[in-house]
Amino acid sequence: MNERYSRQILFQPVGKSGQEKLSNSRVLLVGCGALGAAHAEMLARAGVGKLRIVDRDFVEYTNLQRQTLFSEADAKERLPKAIAAKNRIAQINSETRVEAIVADVNHSNVENLIKDCDLVLDGTDNFQIRYLINDACVKLEKTWIYGAAVSSYGATMTIFPYKTPCLRCIFEEMPSAGSAPTCDTAGVIMPIIASVSAIQVSEALKILTGNFDRLHKSLIQIDVWQNDWRKIKLGKPNADCECCGKGNFEFLEAESIEFSAVLCGRNAVQIAPPKPTRINLPNLAEKLKSYGEIKLNEYLLRLNIDEYELTVFRDARAIIQGTDDVSTARSVYAKYVGS
Ligand SMILES: [Zn+2]
Repeated sequence: MNERYSRQILFQPVGKSGQEKLSNSRVLLVGCGALGAAHAEMLARAGVGKLRIVDRDFVEYTNLQRQTLFSEADAKERLPKAIAAKNRIAQINSETRVEAIVADVNHSNVENLIKDCDLVLDGTDNFQIRYLINDACVKLEKTWIYGAAVSSYGATMTIFPYKTPCLRCIFEEMPSAGSAPTCDTAGVIMPIIASVSAIQVSEALKILTGNFDRLHKSLIQIDVWQNDWRKIKLGKPNADCECCGKGNFEFLEAESIEFSAVLCGRNAVQIAPPKPTRINLPNLAEKLKSYGEIKLNEYLLRLNIDEYELTVFRDARAIIQGTDDVSTARSVYAKYVGS
């Protein structure tokens, strides 16, 4: 066993056999923003063998205050977060194999992303996708660790399908749009990211090394500014739960794919084609070159048009910055990328 893990192996609940288990594990990280970047770094340093990192976004300067894996160079390059994370982890631990996937997680791909992983960590920023993860993990009986952080407040819970309450047992209905604070409206400070991600990763290490008796078995809510720590003990799954009680996976079976999404904290909208496709970025750059200076790299194309900034990815998704109005963003997309 590699000497780099000696201090972790000395920690008795991990030991040599736990370290071995970590190196043979594959963990899916959904989202590589503030929470996801913290998950990725801690799990790579701990010696988890394989990380599958899925994120739809690229690095911006406003991320650097709290997203620890990324650098000014990544923001300047507008590297996709999954790619920037992979590059940085290669410098931190070359033994961890990172599969970087630049994509939007939705009902068409979520089961494939999850099914060969040992564990799923939530590093997302919205309930729509968490309910989707919950449906897929309950259906496939995969353990997942919910985590959320905004302002100075955060929450986390570990979900063992059919053994502990699932997300919908606890939060039956999705909060209605505009009702919950977001990083956009309330801001966020880094210590809450560090706190929530530390609890999530501790739970992940317990699960991957087989220390199930040490799991916290609760919904933990923390406010690092108000000095408030709450631990609500979880009972049994709710027999009337639409998801784990009745087997109604409505977020997986959604007929219409979410075509657009307002991005948290960004004054930006993502537009995604109904079916993932491949787009030839150099060809598109050629078509658009009369509109202004185009930045093109292997993963994306970027162009300022009027008051908007258009970023197009290889899977034909686009992020339109400068508006939080979906119909405005759709028309920009239709005009310059095609419908
Ligand atoms: Zn449930």
